[in-house]
Amino acid sequence: MTPAPQAVFVTLVGAGPGDPELLTLKAVKALQQATVILVDDLVHPDVLQHAKPQARIVQVGKRGGCQSTPQAFIEKLMVQEALAGENVVRLKGGDPLIFGRAGEEIAYLQSQGVGVNIVNGVTSGLAAADTLGLSLTHRNFSHGAVMVTGHSPSSQTDITPIDWEMLGRTAHACHLTLVIYMGMTTAQELQNALLKSMPPNTPIAVVQNASKSNQRSLLGSLSALHTLIHEAGMGSPAIVLVGDVLLTLHDFKSLNNLSHEIYSMARAAN
Ligand code: SAH
Repeated sequence: MTPAPQAVFVTLVGAGPGDPELLTLKAVKALQQATVILVDDLVHPDVLQHAKPQARIVQVGKRGGCQSTPQAFIEKLMVQEALAGENVVRLKGGDPLIFGRAGEEIAYLQSQGVGVNIVNGVTSGLAAADTLGLSLTHRNFSHGAVMVTGHSPSSQTDITPIDWEMLGRTAHACHLTLVIYMGMTTAQELQNALLKSMPPNTPIAVVQNASKSNQRSLLGSLSALHTLIHEAGMGSPAIVLVGDVLLTLHDFKSLNNLSHEIYSMARAAN
């Protein structure tokens, strides 16, 4: 995005999926210049080593179900600090515009006459695939990928909830891989709904803490998604991948009991 022309602006910066070395040079530069930094809780603390010692760091994380900083407070704080002449960075996990309510923040800033600069980050869905060594777009298996939220349908949005049965049918028929964000607490629901239109042995992978030192992953079949997550004791933040493209992975090739729903592989990255 072209830098906003306004003198008063806020910079939305992607901190990447976890590994601080996945920061962009632009992100480092924005952090070095910031005087106020509002930080989401999925941001690796080492990322903040690029900030000036005197920069004011405000933790505004709001993980599902936990005590959270109200969204309206975050938005007002950004505007207040920017209008007071501060160089404000809003540091968000992954890419700043993928989920995480960035659209609402941009709309609010603009409604208050505050410009918005954007600095890309590596989104966790892509980091999850890369850490498995998976090409999401392997041309013999996949025409592309769909980034989709697995968050509960009760979450308040202006659009109708996802029809997972229809999405599964489309993904299966069109050879698209599902890259599901925020799907851990709803894994059983997602599994049940997708099984209405996808074969039970459709390959799945779950990658928790992609790119971090405590990264874990498992491979299996759709019919065992919830069980595998439960057995491996995996939780958020994690990405669930669904689709035949996972068959390109070497680990899957050595997996001959996929249809028996008992395969579970949880491994630490290092
Ligand atoms: N803007 C972020 C996504 C925010 S939504 C991005 O681009 O990555 C939060 C969800 O992202 C989490 O529930 C989880 O599904 C996913 N996520 C974030 N960091 C992750 C990580 N290191 N490993 C796996 N999933 C991650």
